[in-house]
Amino acid sequence: MPEIPYKTYLSEKEIPTAWFNLRADMPVKPAPLLDPATRKPCTAEQLGHVFCDDLVAQELDDNRKWFDIPGEIVDFYKMYRPSPLIRAYFLEKALGTPAHIYYKFEGNNTSGSHKLNSSIAQAYYAKKQGLKGVTTETGAGQWGTALSMACAHFGLDCRVYMVKCSYEQKPFRREVMRTYGADVTPSPSDTTEVGRRILAEHPGTTGSLGCAISEAVEYAVTHEGYRYVLGSVLNQVLLHQSIIGLEAHTAFKKLGVKPDVIIGCAGGGSNLGGLIAPFMGEKLRGEADYRIVAVEPASCPSFTRGKFAYDFCDTGRICPLAKMYTLGADFIPSANHAGGLRFHGMSSILSQLYHDRMMEAVAVEQTSVFEAAEFFARTEGTLPAPESSHAIRAAIDEALRCKKEGIEENIFFGLTGTGYFDLMAYATYNDRKMSDQLPTDAELNASFEKIPQ
Ligand SMILES: *Cc1c(COP(=O)(O)O)cnc(C)c1O
Repeated sequence: MPEIPYKTYLSEKEIPTAWFNLRADMPVKPAPLLDPATRKPCTAEQLGHVFCDDLVAQELDDNRKWFDIPGEIVDFYKMYRPSPLIRAYFLEKALGTPAHIYYKFEGNNTSGSHKLNSSIAQAYYAKKQGLKGVTTETGAGQWGTALSMACAHFGLDCRVYMVKCSYEQKPFRREVMRTYGADVTPSPSDTTEVGRRILAEHPGTTGSLGCAISEAVEYAVTHEGYRYVLGSVLNQVLLHQSIIGLEAHTAFKKLGVKPDVIIGCAGGGSNLGGLIAPFMGEKLRGEADYRIVAVEPASCPSFTRGKFAYDFCDTGRICPLAKMYTLGADFIPSANHAGGLRFHGMSSILSQLYHDRMMEAVAVEQTSVFEAAEFFARTEGTLPAPESSHAIRAAIDEALRCKKEGIEENIFFGLTGTGYFDLMAYATYNDRKMSDQLPTDAELNASFEKIPQ
């Protein structure tokens, strides 16, 4: 029998009781959010019109290292955490690699992804503030699902603006949200000023995340007792997702194993930021070294082809400006099947770390991602989400490199979710109808021109 177990579970008592704020260890802090009108850093008061107060405090704090996790959130975490750290023995064997591959699986809850880790925290603080409800956008549907679960738990009203093409293509996601009590509106819609404007300018549009964000924010700021919540990109979301990395860090310690390469898919950066948090902390403090790799779709390549600049997070240009790797707020990626990775920007924390060469990034094409997904499903048994499969692709490529070089490395990746709601994407792949559509330089340049100076 192998000495490392197939699965390493921590006990409930070992669930972390504080989130780790990676910014505390960063020598160069991520740039602050700017007010779109004055172009000055947003104050807590300004942000408080849009976000819950406690979340604003977390958002703006670059120095405090640990944030206690309120007991009610820890209790909720106990329903589906700790998530297992898995040694991918079958995958290793099928690849014939000397590398040791590990993954942390976050798909063991009804939302099917890591997003519940942050939605439950955000709903908790909204409830604590005495709010009626929260608004949000959802693209592929995972965030909306996670938020509707969290709102049901705390008895909050949940209004979800769902990108129209997903609303139509993913009716099952929509029904999960409605089952948890959420109100789901296809975006752009005529329920907001910005939605009506976008519909007038682009009749027949199938929507975008940026546009749905604008609608959700507008609803929140124009309705008493509502705030807006966001499932990725923001510092507070990476903070909540540090639970993933902290659990993994403890599990690796128990095993006496040190990962050499840490890999995660990157949409807005929340799972990756959470996965790497304690490891990157050690790296920044000079206590240990790791290679850290972000994997993004070649059709939406924010890190590998984007610009590091202040840009809008939403098409409607009403949200604060964030300094990040961006493809431009008007960039609409081709209709690829990794819905959760289609955001034009990237977390400011990860953007700064990438800019400072503390991490690497690779872009992968979707047909090769689905080949990896199929291989993983057949060897490891779990049907992965298309987003997660970007990390699988990169992990397999690293394992094949180890095979070629004849070296034994420890490869660790985040398996963010399951693919049960993405079977249309799998159908496209299985029917051999999937293609790779990459933006041209001309398309990107046109989009870069609209980034504010
Ligand atoms: C949303 C999502 C992602 C991407 O979001 P990040 O904020 O970059 O982590 C990745 N995987 C799954 C399964 C998702 O639902």
